[in-house]
Amino acid sequence: MTETRLLIRGEQVAGDGEPLEVENPATEETVASVGLPSGEQVDAALAAAREATRIWGRTPAIERAEALHEVAAQLRARADELTELMTREGGKPLVENRDEVSWTAAAFDYYAEMGRNFAGRVIPSIEATQLSLVLKEPMGVVACIVPWNYPLLLLAWKLAPALAAGNAVVAKPSELTPLSTLALAPCFEHLPPGAVNIVAGAGEVGEALVKDERVDCIAFTGSVVVGKAIARRAADRVARINLELGGKDPFIVCADVAERIDVAAKGGAWAAFLNAGQVCTSAERFYVMEPVYDDFVSAFVDYTESLVVGDPLDPGTDIGPLASALQREKVSAQLEAAVAAGAQVVAGGNGSGHERGYFFAPAVVTGAPAETDLLREETFGPVAPIVPVKSLDEAIELANGTRFGLGCNVYTKDLDSIFRCMREIKAGTVWFNDPLTDNDAGPFGGMKQSGVGRELGQEGLEAFQETKHVHIETEIAPKEWWYPYGGDEPQARGA
Ligand code: NAD
Repeated sequence: MTETRLLIRGEQVAGDGEPLEVENPATEETVASVGLPSGEQVDAALAAAREATRIWGRTPAIERAEALHEVAAQLRARADELTELMTREGGKPLVENRDEVSWTAAAFDYYAEMGRNFAGRVIPSIEATQLSLVLKEPMGVVACIVPWNYPLLLLAWKLAPALAAGNAVVAKPSELTPLSTLALAPCFEHLPPGAVNIVAGAGEVGEALVKDERVDCIAFTGSVVVGKAIARRAADRVARINLELGGKDPFIVCADVAERIDVAAKGGAWAAFLNAGQVCTSAERFYVMEPVYDDFVSAFVDYTESLVVGDPLDPGTDIGPLASALQREKVSAQLEAAVAAGAQVVAGGNGSGHERGYFFAPAVVTGAPAETDLLREETFGPVAPIVPVKSLDEAIELANGTRFGLGCNVYTKDLDSIFRCMREIKAGTVWFNDPLTDNDAGPFGGMKQSGVGRELGQEGLEAFQETKHVHIETEIAPKEWWYPYGGDEPQARGA
């Protein structure tokens, strides 16, 4: 039976509010109906988290580590169930969801160890009789608000470090994909009640969490527009925020990879079409050096046409449907506007021979004018516009020419080109010759409008810690810079 209950104060409870129908985007059928939380239930989740901070925040880090390893073990034990559920509610192919569950578990294992390895540092004190400490403390209650494209992984990148740092959490999955998140409840049974609460719902429930004084930190992954609204609201009460927002990632192919252009094309197609292009770091604009442009486009088109678009539950499927009707409309509209401005679709496009479901055949586009949204604004769908460039200078200028700065991929083995891209590209991650590979130890996040703060790595733990400077003088003695000031020698004053 599909789990539709919320998790509040360690209890699984049916939501008292309106029903939320969860649709399978491959079949357009309803997977399950979730009762949304009433206002009282959201309030109860927040109150439970607030209370749990007292117990969980004081639990020794070594015990928190054991508890997080247990969460990882529970996730692995439920991998089949979670994989299938994510496939049915989100439309991502089975193999990608299986990977997602295993990366989710790995994030809990990683932060279990990080959390017991770091609680601050000792800094040189002002005088020999003193001890100066930098303490890293829990923030309190963290609201984790996540999108639908990687429901469990993007939650884990917040939840695991937040818990490792001693915080309690209220999590809200996307209204499109609440089921796999609600199914996590048994993974947290061994934690103090209220350390993890899960509610469901759309923007109104998210807003209720963001504006509540009991929430110390909002960790959000989603669109730039909602991220800005959250930042504005959080600013009113100076709540901490960590924002992982949209992208328009460039993918640069240099002429020196001419002999392996087939590999660059396959890597590019995978980076553009993984999860039907619904990845925040999807490659959304290709800048290819003129000497290898024709060969790259030809290899890219051949490879794209070989991909299987279909039932995401079928292990032979490469690309499933888009997550919703709205998502497909947005992608189609952006592509149509580019075509109206003169672009050519050289493979794929809307419609993929399926009568039902929000399928979209992966598209390869050439000749898109630089000012179209297809080359400037996030697509979040399987569309790969390819643009020829004359030089690395031109590629870097175009790569940096949007308001986003999440990731960038480059194919080259030339050391000068690697150094230039590494230093000059404004993006939170730059991958060379291995697109989109994440590393739990490597901070992930965006520059410019792609976000504020980082997830993963040491930075991802510190995102959920408050910093306190503690200054201890071991002698009780007057200081010479106190009053009165009227002595012979002027003294430095305390700041
Ligand atoms: P979205 O911004 O519409 O929604 C994200 C979450 O915020 C959902 O849970 C939604 O219910 C909630 N929400 C909506 N309005 C809210 C409000 N006013 N206050 C509080 N919460 C609110 O995004 P989406 O369509 O679910 O996801 C797609 C977007 O996510 C894309 O822009 C993509 O680039 C981005 N994304 C970014 C990353 C990253 O790490 N940078 C990763 C994945 C996805």
